[in-house]
Amino acid sequence: MTDAPEVGELTPPDRTLMGPGPSDVHPRVLRAMSTPLVGHLDPSFVDIMQEVQELLRYTFRTDNEWTIPVSGTGSASMEAAIGNMVEPGETMLVPTNGYFGDRMASMARRAGGEVVTVDAPWGKPLDTAAVQDAFDEHQPDVFGFVHAETSTGVKQPNVPELTDIAHSHDAYVIADTVTSLGGVELEVDDWGIDVAYSGPQKCLSCPPGASPLTLNDRAMDKVLSREAEPRSWYLDISLLEGYWGDERAYHHTAPVTNVYALREALRLVAEEGIEERWDRHLHVAGALKAAAEAMGLGLNPDDEFWLPSLNAVLVPDGVDAGAAIDYLLEQYDLEIAGGLGALSGDIFRIGCMGHSARPQNVAFLATALGEALE
Ligand code: PLP
Repeated sequence: MTDAPEVGELTPPDRTLMGPGPSDVHPRVLRAMSTPLVGHLDPSFVDIMQEVQELLRYTFRTDNEWTIPVSGTGSASMEAAIGNMVEPGETMLVPTNGYFGDRMASMARRAGGEVVTVDAPWGKPLDTAAVQDAFDEHQPDVFGFVHAETSTGVKQPNVPELTDIAHSHDAYVIADTVTSLGGVELEVDDWGIDVAYSGPQKCLSCPPGASPLTLNDRAMDKVLSREAEPRSWYLDISLLEGYWGDERAYHHTAPVTNVYALREALRLVAEEGIEERWDRHLHVAGALKAAAEAMGLGLNPDDEFWLPSLNAVLVPDGVDAGAAIDYLLEQYDLEIAGGLGALSGDIFRIGCMGHSARPQNVAFLATALGEALE
């Protein structure tokens, strides 16, 4: 037998998180996480579940009854959406203009679906005409798009046009709202989105672990009338319905502390007001963008498609992006990230999300980044 390992008390560094997520967590959320654990079927927890569902509906701007936190990270709510909406042999249309469209494709294939793509370069949104052409050519059953592409800093405009095209072909629309929910205008009902999934650790400023998902009745009807069971038991929405629906029956043990955290994070959204919160992100990230431009640093996407929650700042010629990122972490305890895939080495990804979207963070970042680039 080996000796018991000598491991010291946990003392993580005190970072300022301005990367692609997680973002800084509000102290109230951390406090909520240190309150006593109750059972996941305790009557008090059943009330908490109800409150979280109501707060999620407010934040998603939806009346969808089927609005829940999925146990797991954003990829879990993503896989719940795709794995339940795509049946074996069905076709899903996904975008190629960023990292997360590829993940959608991968999940759709694992669900037994055929994948077809609508193309746009990394750093550009999907064009309405290209989506129309892809529908005419492939007649997909499900269309997925990324509202806020964390890998490129691009916000997809024209969402109602895209959902109209999908619905005129009797298809369902799944939106990735991981980096937009609670920070960037998102209107699930008004824009005709059938299914939206998200994560808590971006504009909601909550630790990862319980991830928002909403489905309208049309999507839920499809899920409940599937011929084949979804391949995942854990993420089978028809089974999760037993716990999150009227029955409140055991399916799996909910991550109670993460649900507390999400409740407090969403309470902060409701107190601020969702529209006021979108405005704050716009203004604080606008100051960040202006500071970058004043330093001679451009942003990768055109202004029209700029995503306030994730700023893709172009790395100046001759600068080693990795060295600058390391400098900020080592000298300032400040986290930002580099580009992924096609944009690797070309951009800094600077998040401005939730509790991190504060003027003092922007001033701090501008000073530190200016020094790192000297
Ligand atoms: N979709 C987008 C747009 C994301 O940015 C992320 C995570 O960064 C995910 C999906 C997956 O979420 P997670 O890493 O929490 O599993």
